[in-house]
Amino acid sequence: MSDRRHHVVIVGAGFGGLEVARGLAGAPVRITLIDQRNHHLFQPLLYQVATASLAPSEIAWPIRHLFRSRKEVTTLLAAVSGIDAQSNQLHLADGTLIAYDTLVLATGARHAYFGHDEWESRAPGLKTLEDATAIRRQILLAFERAEREADPQQRAALLTFVIVGGGPTGVELAGTIAELAHTTLRKEFRIIDTRTARIILIEAGGRLLPSFSADLSSYARTALERLGVEIALGHPVGECTSDGVMVEGRKIPAAVTLWAAGVRASPAAAWLDAPTDPANRVRVEPNLSAPGHANVFVIGDTATIDAWQGRPVPGIAPAAKQQGRYVAHVITRRLRGGDASQPFRYRHAGSLATIGKRSAIIDLGWISVRGWIAWWLWGLTHIYFLIGVRNRLSVALSWLWIYATGDRSARLITQEQHRSA
Ligand SMILES: Cc1cc2nc3c(=O)[nH]c(=O)nc-3n(C[C@H](O)[C@H](O)[C@H](O)COP(=O)(O)OP(=O)(O)OC[C@H]3O[C@@H](n4cnc5c(N)ncnc54)[C@H](O)[C@@H]3O)c2cc1C
Repeated sequence: MSDRRHHVVIVGAGFGGLEVARGLAGAPVRITLIDQRNHHLFQPLLYQVATASLAPSEIAWPIRHLFRSRKEVTTLLAAVSGIDAQSNQLHLADGTLIAYDTLVLATGARHAYFGHDEWESRAPGLKTLEDATAIRRQILLAFERAEREADPQQRAALLTFVIVGGGPTGVELAGTIAELAHTTLRKEFRIIDTRTARIILIEAGGRLLPSFSADLSSYARTALERLGVEIALGHPVGECTSDGVMVEGRKIPAAVTLWAAGVRASPAAAWLDAPTDPANRVRVEPNLSAPGHANVFVIGDTATIDAWQGRPVPGIAPAAKQQGRYVAHVITRRLRGGDASQPFRYRHAGSLATIGKRSAIIDLGWISVRGWIAWWLWGLTHIYFLIGVRNRLSVALSWLWIYATGDRSARLITQEQHRSA
């Protein structure tokens, strides 16, 4: 017998999509949750996998396992490639069609290269576990190659790490790579002195962390410089090459260039032929539905709406979660015969960023915290938001170990034969 319950299809099991599925618990629906990956990823800690502080399994969970006791939720590992909104059907990349009554698109964003997609292979960005382990390999291989490099210039280039973009991810990567080079690896190499490594953070704007107050941004700058990071502000990168970057006509030779400078939303807007902002985010209605499609919602990093006291909602995890909860509420109300609820309003709890293993900044708007107290608060907050007791304990233990000893144990070079070292 066919299942006549209202069918909600959620695409994307990131922060937004998971929250929709959670919010629909107990509603008279069946849910199909589709993701092109089999795991939910805690992206705020990805940089710690990229810098060998945490293992991939500490920040990712099989989606299927998360919904094991929710019989009405079916999880599918598949990539969505399009939508036929007229017939309420979703196209999967393998040609399968899936019919829906209500659709929620929570497909996130990826890094963007401002029209220079060819830079991606030379300056990888951080979005997936594969990105993180590939970056980890690149960083660790650079030290290995430097140990065997006789030419001083080549060696210096191998020990130069450029990070493009002075937002939270760029700052967190720069601080942690500096600690890795200057502390963690210091005693393990015999020929090179890893403390001579240069970590250069390049930001096109006038200051780091523009989403934080000017005061906290200047604190972050000083804290990074204390860790040995060189900071170049007001300098857009003109070119990323396979062996470095060009900045205002000057070449900086570097074995590793990392990209943390911009995002572009998933192609959800093209699937719906919907209006977008310059980052390709769908301009959604006040109730987060797509224009002209009352039964299609778009949330999280792939949507844009001026619902933060008239400003655009930021592309951060709490915003995606709030939107997910809101959409679950709207769907439930509709099914129970109620009218649409209040327009979505974003409530900003605060902004956080770490600078190495002992310092952080927290901007709550009405108060700011910095230094080691902020680091502990940052750590506790992130542990609270991780899923499951085992991961919380494991991450807490890893951090305490790093905090006390400076040792980062996830220093594995994987996915490549050592011949290239
Ligand atoms: C390196 C990094 C650091 C960050 N740090 C912070 C931080 O410190 N604090 C903070 O609040 N936010 C941070 N963010 C931002 C935060 O992670 C995002 O705002 C949040 O993940 C957005 O949630 P989402 O549900 O919109 O998308 P995501 O969480 O990105 O989830 C999208 C999901 O959709 C799936 N998907 C995409 N396309 C398809 C398709 N075609 N078919 C099927 N599935 C698909 C993806 O596999 C993914 O699982 C960071 C992001 C990154 C990349």
